[in-house]
Amino acid sequence: MSHQIDIEKVRADFPILSRKVNGHPLVYFDNAATSQTPKVVIDAIVEYYEQYNANIHRGVHSLSQEATDAYEQARETLRAHFNAAKKEEIIFTSGTTHGINLVANGFASQLKAGDEVIVSALEHHSNIVPWQMLCEKTGAQLKVIPMTNSGELAMDAFHELLSDKTKLVFVNHVSNALGTINPIETIITEAHKKGAAVLIDGAQAAPHIKADVQALDVDFYVVSGHKMCGPTGVGILYGKEEWLNKLPPYQGGGEM
Ligand SMILES: *Cc1c(COP(=O)(O)O)cnc(C)c1O
Repeated sequence: MSHQIDIEKVRADFPILSRKVNGHPLVYFDNAATSQTPKVVIDAIVEYYEQYNANIHRGVHSLSQEATDAYEQARETLRAHFNAAKKEEIIFTSGTTHGINLVANGFASQLKAGDEVIVSALEHHSNIVPWQMLCEKTGAQLKVIPMTNSGELAMDAFHELLSDKTKLVFVNHVSNALGTINPIETIITEAHKKGAAVLIDGAQAAPHIKADVQALDVDFYVVSGHKMCGPTGVGILYGKEEWLNKLPPYQGGGEM
């Protein structure tokens, strides 16, 4: 049985593809950087502003109730998608960069000189710089898993880097540079044996692979809306409840 994609039907979902660029119908290949937005998503945003725009969790009037219900419904949809145990483990952010910085800032209180954190050589800048800043602040040491000639993580080297000093491991699920799918199951299992927490950058994986955070037993999983046909400026941080309770608040404010 063949599963042919009806290209015209898919294109019809994306209003932007009906415009011309430089006199030609638009063909868009930069989805890994920012995907285009289907009509259903655009409609939902317009409906929000036209029908029930209000302050969530802050008002007792009808619009605020409706906005709060829609917001919590979205959180429940995401909880189910990632199979998180609890809705409270799904945190809305402004994107992957924000989610990583939120966790890195939280860990400033958990690390001390002599501790080690492991990152891979295959990371987006968003998953390197926050950890460099964290290490500078705490005196912890950053260790890097090298890459093989075929663009995969050198897992032997990873096993050698892991030790009782390792407190955190950060790796992307799918590399934005090479498309490599990293063996995160092994990385998570091995890191946990040393008592280290694991953050997985799922920005490139989320549009293609459905991550089950409970099956993976991952501590943190971060994604961006704008790379998975969602709106720009929205992201998700999944955090295991026990870790969320351990980390101090990143920002102070209402409903923190
Ligand atoms: C795009 C990307 C990021 C950063 O995402 P933002 O939405 O810009 O915060 C981080 N990691 C990977 C792997 C990415 O592809």
